[in-house]
Amino acid sequence: MEDYESLRQDRYNATVVSKILLTPDLMILRVATDEPREQFSAGQYTTLGLSGFEPRSANSEEEHSPAPAERLVQRAYSIVSARHETREFEFYITQIKSGQLTPRLFALEVGDRLFVGRRIVGVFNLSEVLPEKDVLMAATGTGIAPFISFLRSHVASRPNSRMVVVQGASHQRDLGYYSELAFLNTTLANFFYLPTLADADETWRGRRMWIEDLLAAGEVKRESGITLDPAKTHVYLCGNPKMVESVARWFIEEKGYQQKKGREEGQLFIEEF
Ligand SMILES: Cc1cc2nc3c(=O)[nH]c(=O)nc-3n(C[C@H](O)[C@H](O)[C@H](O)COP(=O)(O)OP(=O)(O)OC[C@H]3O[C@@H](n4cnc5c(N)ncnc54)[C@H](O)[C@@H]3O)c2cc1C
Repeated sequence: MEDYESLRQDRYNATVVSKILLTPDLMILRVATDEPREQFSAGQYTTLGLSGFEPRSANSEEEHSPAPAERLVQRAYSIVSARHETREFEFYITQIKSGQLTPRLFALEVGDRLFVGRRIVGVFNLSEVLPEKDVLMAATGTGIAPFISFLRSHVASRPNSRMVVVQGASHQRDLGYYSELAFLNTTLANFFYLPTLADADETWRGRRMWIEDLLAAGEVKRESGITLDPAKTHVYLCGNPKMVESVARWFIEEKGYQQKKGREEGQLFIEEF
């Protein structure tokens, strides 16, 4: 145990400052790093890590392959915070009950220590979108994380760019950041929020369609005025690989979009979790 304590001291470089469990398997985790990070681009990610000897959450399951006790298990997580935050970072995390890292992250409490990567990386950002172009963001699950960073960082400073978030989920409780998005929708003239739920109960008065059907029905144009045209609107997709693949195919085949790859031109940006 003493050895573990010294490993903790050597390898951990951040402290949990807030943990909000939205459901037993979905949380917003805020961590403060001992040293500030360099300013990043909204939409980028870093790594979180905990040692194999750390406890797992009470509602987790048997690990699919047990992490060796002394290994630092690291995974990538998109940063939810605005890009000017360099010392305190917010993450939106789903627990994979048999996973190696997330059950250990879900066992953390305020004041606990963990590892946060020193570098913030990724090409899923708005740097190539001219200030007058419109932006459509479609997300499922924790795929909303980089879009919250986009909005916190850019929506107010790009008044000539309309931005729309299409968020798909099963139930109301899975719509993380609903209040923040609904608030922006009512306060900013250039922002539009279109949530849609597949399995909502009768208290939900909103849309109940798949993201593909919502797009094909012309809802984005009707609600926001944004045209699904590669010359005018850049599209960002993030989340479940099945949703990303199917919506990307729709944009490519039906609307003539090109996927952004490396240095090649493209108006369709993809991040899969
Ligand atoms: C750029 C990027 C950004 C990301 N951002 C986020 C984010 O903001 N929020 C978020 O929640 N996630 C995010 N992820 C996903 C995250 O990195 C982890 O993959 C996720 O949290 C699961 O980690 P884990 O260690 O708990 O699960 P893992 O142990 O990695 O397991 C993942 C899944 O694979 C299965 N599996 C893997 N190996 C085996 C095996 N040998 N046998 C059987 N089953 C196996 C597991 O059962 C499980 O379903 C992001 C990923 C990327 C690439």
